[in-house]
Amino acid sequence: MEEKVVAFLSSFSMLLMGICLIVLMRFPNFHATALALSEQAGQSGRSVSGSVLSMLKDDSSLLKTSQDYIELQQHQIRLEIPTSVDMDQISVSEKYMSKEILLSIPGVGDTYFYDYPMIGKTEGISDMRYEVYDHVGMIDISTNHIFEPEITQSGNYLYLDFKRPKKIYDYLVAIDAGHGAEDPGAVQGDVYEKDINLGIVRQLKKLFDKDKHNIGVYYTRLKDTNPDFPDRVELPNDLKTDAFVSVHINSTDSGRLSGISGASVMYMVTDKTGESKELAGYILDHMLFEMGSASKGLVPGDELYVLRMTDGPSVLCECGFLTNPEEQALLRTKEYQRKIAMGIYLGILQKLGIED
Ligand SMILES: [Zn+2]
Repeated sequence: MEEKVVAFLSSFSMLLMGICLIVLMRFPNFHATALALSEQAGQSGRSVSGSVLSMLKDDSSLLKTSQDYIELQQHQIRLEIPTSVDMDQISVSEKYMSKEILLSIPGVGDTYFYDYPMIGKTEGISDMRYEVYDHVGMIDISTNHIFEPEITQSGNYLYLDFKRPKKIYDYLVAIDAGHGAEDPGAVQGDVYEKDINLGIVRQLKKLFDKDKHNIGVYYTRLKDTNPDFPDRVELPNDLKTDAFVSVHINSTDSGRLSGISGASVMYMVTDKTGESKELAGYILDHMLFEMGSASKGLVPGDELYVLRMTDGPSVLCECGFLTNPEEQALLRTKEYQRKIAMGIYLGILQKLGIED
C-alpha cells in the first residue's frame, strides 16, 4: 500500500474514533437507549409493560364458541395460554397485606396481552400491572379487598377468580406480632421485644397450620418487618375477623430490671361486638395454665391504636416482662414461646366455640 493511502486511512479512523468519543461523552445513556431501541425493533408486535387494566374487557366478540361464553360466565378473568407454555409452571400467590395477587407465566413475552387478549370483568380490581422478568410474565393485580385467588384450567384457557375469605373459611383470625424492623419495642441489652413477639407468632402459625378446623389465619408479619398501624388494623377490618390478637412483651415503665413478672391481656372496653373481654379472658386463662406464670389480669386498653381501630373482637397479649431477669430468660426460649402460643391458640379456639 502506498504511504499516502495509509496516512489517509489512519487519520480518517482517528477522526471516527474522536466522533464516537464525543457522542459517548455527550450522551452517556446512548448505549442503553440504542439497546432498548434494537430490542423493541426485534419484536414481532407491540409490547406492553406497566398497567394493563384497560386491556381487560368484557368483550364477548372475542369468544369463539357458545361453550366459551358459558364458561366465562362462571369466572371473572379468562387468560389464553400459548401452547408453548407448560401450564404446570404457572403459579399464583397473594400478598394480602398490600391486597395484591401475583400470577407468573413462564415463557410469555412483552407482546403477550396483544397476541392473547384477556377477557373478563374488572370488578374488585383497582389496577393490573404487567412486566417480563427473565422470560417470565408477571401479572400483579391490586384488589379493593383481600381475596383468595383461584385458578382453573380448561384447555388452553386459564380462569382466574377472586374469593372473599369469608366464603372459603368457617372462621377468620388475624395475628399481629408487635413492632418489627426499625422499631424494636422494649429493649434489654441485646434482647429485643420484636424478636420474641415474632418467635411466639411463628409457633402460633405452626399450631394453626396443623389445625384441622376450617380457620383462615392471616398474619400482619412473619418476618422482621414493621407494617404501619393502619395496615395492621386494616387486615382484621377487611377480613371481618372473629378474633384479632396482637402479641407483645411487657416491661416496667422505667425500663429498669425489677421483680415484677406475669402475663396480662388487654382488651377494648367499648368495642362494637362486646366480645373482646370474653376473648381476652379465654386467652389469659389458657396462657397462665400453659406457662405457669403469675397473672397480671385483664386490662382495659382502649388507648391502644390496634385495639381502638379494630372493628371486631380484639386483644393485645403482654406475655411477660422483659425487665424481669428470670422471666426474660424463659421468654427467650423456644419452649416457653411454644407454651405461650399454645395458650393463645387454645383461647382463640374456645372463643370460636371449637374446643377439641
Ligand atoms: Zn410492645
